[in-house]
Amino acid sequence: MDRREKEMICIVCPNGCRMTAQIDEQANIEVTGNKCVRGKEFAMREMTNPVRGLSTTVRTDSPELPVLPVRLSAEIPKARIFDVMKEINNIRVTGPVKQGTVLARNLLGTGADLVATADMPHQTEK
Ligand code: SF4
Repeated sequence: MDRREKEMICIVCPNGCRMTAQIDEQANIEVTGNKCVRGKEFAMREMTNPVRGLSTTVRTDSPELPVLPVRLSAEIPKARIFDVMKEINNIRVTGPVKQGTVLARNLLGTGADLVATADMPHQTEK
């Protein structure tokens, strides 16, 4: 029976356990190195459909606050992170924006929205 093996570091908590996971064709998984069950769950996702959250910044039209911190509202497939980052890099925000404002919905069909994690005040008139 075919088995895939992968070494990984669990990112669920700060312990960062170094784990080895083996999975067979029926998705039976064996994990070593994990200190708790959450590590096994993480390994299963990593071996089948790895997902990641994303926190970054977007450009604004404000000289006083040229970038605004943002995050995705949900984790997305790891394989889509690069394309989503490219999409985010094309976004330019015009203020004012309140923390929690959705700046873009359903980015590239991932189901995740782009959310501001800080306020962007009115631009001061020059
Ligand atoms: S296996 Fe458990 S203890 Fe280890 S990093 Fe993952 S969540 Fe933390």
